[in-house]
Amino acid sequence: MEENIRKLKDAIDKAEHIVFFSGAGMSTASGIPDFRSSTGLYKNVYRAEEMISHSFFMAYPKDFYIFYRDKLVYENAKPNAGHLFIAGLEETKDVSVVTQNIDGLHQAAGSKKVYELHGSIHRNYCMKCHKFYPLGKIMETDDVPRCSCGGIIKPDVVLYEEGLDEDVIYKAVNAIAKADLLIVLGTSLNVYPAAGFLRYFRGNTLAIINRDATSYDSHCDIVIHDDINRVFSQL
Ligand code: ZN
Repeated sequence: MEENIRKLKDAIDKAEHIVFFSGAGMSTASGIPDFRSSTGLYKNVYRAEEMISHSFFMAYPKDFYIFYRDKLVYENAKPNAGHLFIAGLEETKDVSVVTQNIDGLHQAAGSKKVYELHGSIHRNYCMKCHKFYPLGKIMETDDVPRCSCGGIIKPDVVLYEEGLDEDVIYKAVNAIAKADLLIVLGTSLNVYPAAGFLRYFRGNTLAIINRDATSYDSHCDIVIHDDINRVFSQL
């Protein structure tokens, strides 16, 4: 076993309250491409960030949904070794997951305490009557999904120009503040508001597992530049 992975294993064994903070790299390890890495313009006009903004959704819901179904929803993605390890750890530790991902794979693996900063593709609401719909309702049509009341159904995903849910932030910050081990997974921490959350950590060990180097590596006690599946299959 590599030295850094041994150190991580020791830190996990010793810790009681563990928070995993996961970003896009966690999902790419399950075969879900990071939409931010998609280059080029859509319809020769729009960048990916524009297509999933609040104003675009309100103005062009049909185009929004074409892009959304194609680039943000991967119905057949499965939890990877990392998701499964984290869920299994709940049997012996107090584990919380704070995630920037919207794919619901932490819950699919069995994790109970998951704070989804950017929402989830699995929750969808009528904008008129607030009736709840599962993902299937979004995927069963090529058009704008509509509620039985006629209202447009919107995914409970935080779009650009929209604020994060304050209750989710509060719970995520609380979990981080009482953690003795914080493990950052698959994010360079450049996506808002990731980096701000780390300021609340007062615990012993800060670890980061990311394929590429990040500007936060120097603040971390354990730094692993490797594939998430490869790391967790060794733990
Ligand atoms: Zn409705």
